[in-house]
Amino acid sequence: MAVSGSTPKFHNQLAVREIRIGVREFNCIGVLPPHDHPHIYLAMEHRSLCPYCSTLFVFDERLAPTETDPAGCYFEEQTLGCEASAGRRAPRSFGARSARSRRPYNLVGWPRAAPSSDRDGRLATVA
Ligand SMILES: [Zn+2]
Repeated sequence: MAVSGSTPKFHNQLAVREIRIGVREFNCIGVLPPHDHPHIYLAMEHRSLCPYCSTLFVFDERLAPTETDPAGCYFEEQTLGCEASAGRRAPRSFGARSARSRRPYNLVGWPRAAPSSDRDGRLATVA
């Protein structure tokens, strides 16, 4: 039977030097999102060093695919939906950027105009 589609992912949120896992092919994501590094595919005979976070992964046949030593380094794929929706929002911020570039102009003009009109207003009341 083939393994179900996706490669298991592991993180080193505990910042340990070495993590023992029960699979030879996996993805290292560094730490939990949003501070994860690019999810890279790693394969190994007995051990593999992640080039991003320097975590040493050691194959341990006694462990299940979702088990790690120390425990809790297996990353559940559930957050993938959140990542996808966040990616959709990104193009919209491009439009917001052009609107922002206009603002500094208005802000420069505003302080000048405000005091003079205020003076005029008071003078008018006094007179
Ligand atoms: Zn890594």
